[in-house]
Amino acid sequence: MTWEAVIGLEVHAHLSTDTKIFCACATAFGAPPNTQVCPVCLGYPGALPVLNRRAVELAIRAALATGCTIHERSVFARKNYFYPDLPKGYQISQFDRPLATGGSIGNVRILRIHMEEDAGKSIHHGEVSHVDLNRAGTPLVEIVSEPDIRSAEEADAYVTRLRQILMYTEVCDGNMEEGSLRCDANVSVRRTGASLGTRAEIKNLNSFRYLRSAIDFEIARQIAILESGGTITQETRLYDPASGETRTMRSKEEAHDYRYFPDPDLLPLVVDRAWIDEIARSVPELPQVRAERYQRDFALSGKDAEALVTSRPLADYFEATVESSGNARGAANWVRNEVLRVLNEQKLDLAGYRVTPGKLGRLIRLIDSGAIGGKAAKEVFDDMSASGHDPEQIVERKGLGQISDPAVIREAARRVIERNAVQVEQYRAGKAQLFGFLVGQLMKETRGKANAEMANAILRELLG
Ligand code: ADP
Ligand code: MG
Ligand code: ZN
Repeated sequence: MTWEAVIGLEVHAHLSTDTKIFCACATAFGAPPNTQVCPVCLGYPGALPVLNRRAVELAIRAALATGCTIHERSVFARKNYFYPDLPKGYQISQFDRPLATGGSIGNVRILRIHMEEDAGKSIHHGEVSHVDLNRAGTPLVEIVSEPDIRSAEEADAYVTRLRQILMYTEVCDGNMEEGSLRCDANVSVRRTGASLGTRAEIKNLNSFRYLRSAIDFEIARQIAILESGGTITQETRLYDPASGETRTMRSKEEAHDYRYFPDPDLLPLVVDRAWIDEIARSVPELPQVRAERYQRDFALSGKDAEALVTSRPLADYFEATVESSGNARGAANWVRNEVLRVLNEQKLDLAGYRVTPGKLGRLIRLIDSGAIGGKAAKEVFDDMSASGHDPEQIVERKGLGQISDPAVIREAARRVIERNAVQVEQYRAGKAQLFGFLVGQLMKETRGKANAEMANAILRELLG
């Protein structure tokens, strides 16, 4: 019997609010240490938390976008533990009465979504450690999945989709490098079909690469232990990016007893139906739904559609290009291949990109009308990316226009036939390879500007 991995993920996402969850301090990333703090988020005795309405709104939006049931009454609880970056001695979170439960992303079920505050950050310099409390009190949602994931690839796909949804809904900026989105992976293995094995929890994975590598390492580690007759101990582990390994952080015996209890400084969180309905109306079309629409309405492949919805600005750009070009297939090809390539090469995002959907649409129309050929179009596109000029202007400046008037091409073809009577004779007598020579003469006659397809067809027709 083979081994099967079982994985459940806890994703922490910073809510995109301007201010913290229980005070009015700013949440902006990168400020000088300890400049965005006040008595509430510094944990001074007697300071009282006041819940940020916007944070609740964003958490509800996340819950709606993942198909969760939102509970009209939830409870903030104190999660007690000591750590230098947690000045109050407890984190305000939700425990047995979370904001939302029971959603899904694809075939991964979501157990719960609750709100909580982030802790500060410890910064270690050799022998000395510093604490920056700017992050303390930043609003978070924790999104906990059921153990429905079976591999590192599935975990990656789940977090990718979750991150897309959070970014589309503007709940979270999705910036993993800045810690706006972090992931804990719970991993166990079992013989296929057996009941759940003992899990290890790997903390704080802040990139997709680390997530995959930590899970793969952990699966292999557990299988090796079990195959040599050992047992897995339930524990919390840390991933070391340098070695690609996970190692024990604390065992079950050392696990914290958080002594949760309802925070006496905060009333239960009550959200009424009307407000939830209002927030529901602000949830935009989600990436998956958008991709399905592209396949249905534009006849795109699943792969193309998926690539075009990876971010909301990209999908918006694509749709605007469909509009301006009147050619969905063409728009999909140009955006997927050329636009993404240039953005990648020049490390640009769409906001600063000179080739607007309107300009790209006009370029596609120039191709579709036969005014320029495929090779010229690439040249126009690269020029547009660099100069920001209009496509028509570039065609003019570079003399890239092509002749697609059949009458003009026919006229030129007649002249070529007249002037090359010998070759024409030989071609008609069966020397088929001379056709290429004659096409070459026709292209020369039109200074390379004849629409190649038309040139071929007309010449073939005139040669009989
Ligand atoms: P805790 O609060 O101690 O982290 P939870 O019950 O909230 O524990 O579970 C946390 C995560 O662990 C969830 O994502 C859940 O799906 C996952 N999980 C639970 N049991 C297992 C298991 N045996 N193997 C893998 N993941 C598991
Ligand atoms: Mg946990
Ligand atoms: Zn504060």
